[in-house]
Formats: sequence, structure tokens, C-alpha cells
Amino acid sequence: MVAVRALCDFAARSGDLDLRFTPAPSGAEGVAGHGEVTARRGAGYQREVPLVRQHAGLHIQGRADGWDPDARRLEEIKTHRGDPALIAPNRQALHRAQAMVYGWMLCEQLGLEGLEIAIVYFNIDTGSETPQVQWHTAADLRAHVQALCARYTAWAQQEAAQRQAREAALRALAFPFPDFRAGQRELAEAVYRTHANGRLLMAQAPTGIGKTAATLFAALKALPLRGTDKLFYLTARTTGRQLALDALARLGGFHPAAGRRWTLPLRVLERVAREKACEHPDKACHGESCPLARGFYDRLPAARSEAAQAGWLDREALRRVALAHQVCPYYLGQEMLRWTDVAVGDYNHVFDLGAHWPALADENGWTTALLVDEAHNLIDRARSMYSATLAPAPFQQLRAQAPAALKKPLDRVHRAWNALAHERQARGQAELTVLEAPPAEFAAALQALGSAIGDHLAQHPEATADDALSRWHFDALHWQRVAELFDSHTLCDLSAAPPAPRGTARTRLDQPVLSLRNLVPGPLLQARWCGLHGATLFSATLAPMDHLAELLALPADTLRCEVPSPFDPAQLAVRIAPHISTRWSDRLTSLTPMADLMAAQYEGEAGNYLAFFSSFDYLQQALDRLQQRHPQIPVWAQSRGMGEPEREAFIARFTEQGRGIGFAVLGGAFGEGIDLPGRRLIGAFIATLGLPQVNPVNEQLRARLQARFGHGYEHAYLYPGLQKVVQAAGRVIRTAQDHGTVWLLDDRFNRPEVRRLLPPWWRPQNSA
Ligand code: SF4
Repeated sequence: MVAVRALCDFAARSGDLDLRFTPAPSGAEGVAGHGEVTARRGAGYQREVPLVRQHAGLHIQGRADGWDPDARRLEEIKTHRGDPALIAPNRQALHRAQAMVYGWMLCEQLGLEGLEIAIVYFNIDTGSETPQVQWHTAADLRAHVQALCARYTAWAQQEAAQRQAREAALRALAFPFPDFRAGQRELAEAVYRTHANGRLLMAQAPTGIGKTAATLFAALKALPLRGTDKLFYLTARTTGRQLALDALARLGGFHPAAGRRWTLPLRVLERVAREKACEHPDKACHGESCPLARGFYDRLPAARSEAAQAGWLDREALRRVALAHQVCPYYLGQEMLRWTDVAVGDYNHVFDLGAHWPALADENGWTTALLVDEAHNLIDRARSMYSATLAPAPFQQLRAQAPAALKKPLDRVHRAWNALAHERQARGQAELTVLEAPPAEFAAALQALGSAIGDHLAQHPEATADDALSRWHFDALHWQRVAELFDSHTLCDLSAAPPAPRGTARTRLDQPVLSLRNLVPGPLLQARWCGLHGATLFSATLAPMDHLAELLALPADTLRCEVPSPFDPAQLAVRIAPHISTRWSDRLTSLTPMADLMAAQYEGEAGNYLAFFSSFDYLQQALDRLQQRHPQIPVWAQSRGMGEPEREAFIARFTEQGRGIGFAVLGGAFGEGIDLPGRRLIGAFIATLGLPQVNPVNEQLRARLQARFGHGYEHAYLYPGLQKVVQAAGRVIRTAQDHGTVWLLDDRFNRPEVRRLLPPWWRPQNSA
């Protein structure tokens, strides 16, 4: 079975890739536009006509937008913004190719000798229609379909054979290690059962048991049970993606270094961000600018074929194939998502506003299963995906440099922004001025500006995605999309803008930053959980699971699994320092006892330690005090905005024979996702409960969560804080052979509500 759109996407595209910023309507606007056009038609007009035909062994199906039997006219409606003449010719050709397939189906179904096909370009801003009408005979349409099917059939047969081989291989797939580690089998069985039943699972399992291999193995074994098309493996960071690829390579017995080839009939694709895959960052994604976009669709079939044969498409492998065929690696990867079995990517590939993977799955009717690694991160990541901020400085910069054609709409936004400045003034210039909803005049002005910029960019193909106008346009569009979704899950507020950079035009009024901050991502994620063929959200720190379930709006029947730690409590000494308080008001007095305690621990057992603090300022104070009082102890510290080489240098100091204390910020780059087994790390000092700062935004969050779930403080402060503490402490014991010490430096770690959130296998003791 193949959808008309998929058939044409495969077989009827030609020419350049063209992804310049055209002012495209949103999905909802497209649906509304279709409704508006068809509502204008006469009484006998048929809408959304379902069509199904067989040809050359293919079962082709689709839905024609409109059919007027009296005029014998079939309509394919395409909504757009701006000048229809700016729609790329190869895009227009694709639209006609699709409509001609519908036309053929209709001719076959009704026994017609021919019909008129109109591609109706409908401008959603002006309501005007630009029809492109052509008469086609049934014979012409049949020849068109024959040509498309001839290109598609061999591919479809190859894909069917690959699928059969995949299912057989997955049924026979063996766990790639001689045995399961303690707890690993339990996790794998829970994932397998859950995915076999198409349910969702929250799984907490300690670090070091091999969660990645267990979840991947089980989810893959479950794919054939429900005929699931694809497995998406999502991670919060690059290191997690590499771990997943390593586990998949191992499952496939794939060792490139040992000269072993990928032989498992399972296609694996790594997706990376466009910036990382782009070969020409100074160019724009269209044929007039980038050589890898020029003629992209003409060379795509050969590249696609080679990529499909390769099967293993991590970033490097995909790049090799793409460059061999002179096509863009990023967009070849996008195409290969259609033909892959396992895609490994970032959370945003599935959860972002307008995420590409679920949209493609919907469009193509794929069934998918999901693995979400380090799922405790999803709450904050989702919040940021559904939040948007517009600051005045980049806008004023744009206004100063923008072309004359944009002056009027820019001035309208400027005036609306000034009105917000007045409102903020009238309400006392508070640190945070909460608005009931996104300001209507500002939103309308922004929309008008967006249309004008879209038209301008379409007429200036030399603009790159990175130039100031395009970037600002992208941010403004995102803000508009978030504003459209506004509800009680999101906060709309005004706050003081940071001082404008030098050289930026200043305004008479202090224009505020206008933010839409998502506080509860669940309502916006709900649709993502529907219809999955199994999903597992796993992490070493999901406790308490109600926190995750409520904030992500997981279905009520989501299963839960807590794998006990395989580690012996004797491996980890957990000490609480009840004489230390790291509360803001006690910080200065905490420094000396903290430094002496760290020194005593270090002198008692020299080796590598990590010390975690709530902020860089506190970190620096503690570091200074330790160096003053105990200068013999080697120290090194995380700094603000550390780049990749500096981060690597920080980690490189943790050697087997190393000695010293690495100072880091809790919740930062070294608080999770780093693996320092054995003597590389023998202890950690945690000088904070990790509680987020009390500020107006977090207080709004607390109040909203209190109103919604009844335990605002816990959701807003306590749970996220303690998750970070447990993650950081989890760096110490990585294997059954490790031994170490964790110091919890704050009297509040003795509170029952805090102790309840520590891992059950810990045996915390107060220091004397
Ligand atoms: S190489 Fe870069 S600029 Fe060229 S099409 Fe790909 S992503 Fe766009």
C-alpha cells in the first residue's frame, strides 16, 4: 500500500532542494484554508474524496481535495503566503504530479475519458485564489501513473524483502553479552512486556547495569510482535547518542575498527542537528546558494539506494554516502528516516513544536515505538521547547538595518512594544509583570511583520538561515506558535531587558523582554503519547515517578518499574554533615567547615573527588577557602561557558593515579552523563540540595503547580533539586568493584522528606 503523496515524494521530485524561508502557513492555517476554499464551491461539489486503486501490484490510496462533477474538475488546494509566482517550479510540478495521480484514480473509478485538474493556490492572508488549470486525458494520466509506479515498484519490493528479513533477524536476535548484569534482565523484561502490549513504561534503574543495551535489545525484540515500523531512541545529549549507537553496533556484531561489516538487516540512522551536518554553513539551503542543494532530487535516488544498502548510517557513514553523490548529508538523513528502522536522535526530534519525526509518522501512517534515555531531563527540555522569548535589543538592531520595505511593519511592532513598556511602568516596573495572555496588538503586529519578512526573504534567495533577519524571523515565528498554544500551562510575562550591547539603537522607553514560559509541558505532549507501539522513559533518577507522570501528562495506565541497585551498600559510605548549612544566608560561615571537612576526607583517603556547588560564585568562594587553608590539595574547577576542549581537559584529570578535587556546579556538564569508574573517582562532596533559586519565575511555577497538582513546592523545588543531587552522587559508584564516599554537606539532608528521595540502597550516616 502506498499513499499518493509518498509515491510522488519518492518518484516525482526533481531539481533543487529549496528550503529558503518561504512564509508557509501552519498546519492549522492550512486546514482552515482548505475549508475556506471548499466552502466557496457550489452545491454538488464533493470534498475530501477518498480514492483507492491498484496498479502494477501497488495499492495506491489518497484523498482528493475537491471534485466538481458538473464542471468535471478536480481541485488540489495548496495554501500559501506571499506571491504564488515565488513558489519554486519543482514544487509546483510536484503538486501537479500528485493531482494527476488523483485524476487518474478518479477517471478509473468513474470511467471518464478525461478531466480538468486545477491546482488552487490559496493565499491565507488575502483569501485570493490562483488556480492553475489544465485538461488531462485519461490516457495521459495513466501514462503518468505508470511512469511513477515503474520507478517505485522495484524499491517497494526491495523494502518488503528487507522488512521480512528484519523481522526474522529480530526474532532470532541474541543478547550480545554472555550474560545479563544484575537488574539488567529485569529491566529488559519490563521493556519487552510493555512494548509487546503497546503500553508506556517509566523505568528507574541504577547507573552501571547497562540500561541502554537492555532497553534497546528488548524494544527491538518487541518490534515484530506488533508489526511496529520504527523505533526512535531519544537522548538529551550527544554522549547518550553515542552510547546508543555503541549498543546497537554491538547488537549487530559490528566492529568497524576490527574490519567487521554491518550485516544485520536493520537500518540504523543517527540524526544530528543541521548545524552539525551542514557542509556549507555560509550558504543557504537552496540550489542558487549551495552546491549540495543544487540538483539534490536528481541525485537523490542513487544516494538513497546506496544509503539503504549500507544499513548502518551514523553521522560519518551518512556523510560519506552523501558526499559521494554530491547531496546534502543533513537532508539525505531526513530522507533516510523514511527508510530506516531505528533512528537515534535528540528529544527535540519527537517533542519539539513542529517536530519532524511524528509529522512524518502521521503522514505516512507509520507505527512507532519510543525509548527516552535520561528521561528526568525531559521536563525541563520540553519546557524550553514550548517557551519563547523576544528581547528588544536584537529587534532594535534589525530595525536600524532592515530594508525600507519592512519599515512600516517594523514600526508597528515597535509601537506595540512601547505600549508594553508603558504597561510595565504603570504596574511598577516589577521584576516580573505577569500578563493574562499574550498581548493581542503585539501578536497582530508581529504576524504582519512576519508576513512582510517572509515575502522579503522569498524575494532575496541570497539570504542565509543565519543572517540577522532570518534568525529574528525564525525566533518571531516560534514566539507566535507558542502564543497560539497559550493556556494555563504557560506564563506570559514582561521583564527588564539586559543592557543593550554597544552600538545598538536605544529607545526612549525601556522596552521589556516578552516571554512565554511553559511551566507544565504535559498538556502539549499528550498527543505525542497517543498511538505509540510502546514507549519507555528511563533514567537512574525518576523518583518520585508521580512527578514525571504529572508534569509530562503520561497516560494513567503507564507502567512503572524500579530496578533495585546491584550495588552493595558497603560500597558507598554516605555521610551527612549536620553542622553545615548551605542556605544563602549561611554561605560565608559554611566555607571554613566545608574546606576542613573536604581536606580531612582527602587526607584520610587521597584520590580523585568531585565537589558540587549551587553556583559558580559559591564554587569560587569554597575553592578559595580550601586553597587558603589547605594549599597542598590539588584542585581544578569548572568555569562558565566551558567549551568542549576545556571540558575534556577537566575530565582528563581524573586518572587512575590522579589526586585532587574537581570543583563543579550541580546540574552542569559534570553532574551527569560522565563515567569515571574505579579509582578515577572515589568520592563526591555535594554542597547544595540543588534547589532551584527562589525568584519570581520559580515562585510563579510553584503557585501554578500547587494549583494544578497540590504540591507546588515539591514539584518546583524539591524533586528537581534532589534528582540532581542523586545524579551527581551517582558518578561515584559505577561498577561492582567501585568503592567510595559521598558527603552531603547540609543539615537539611536529614529531613525526612529529603531522606525519602535518596536511593533506598544508601545508608546515610551523620558525621560525628
Ligand atoms: S550543506 Fe548546508 S547549506 Fe547546503 S543544503 Fe545542506 S544544510 Fe543547507
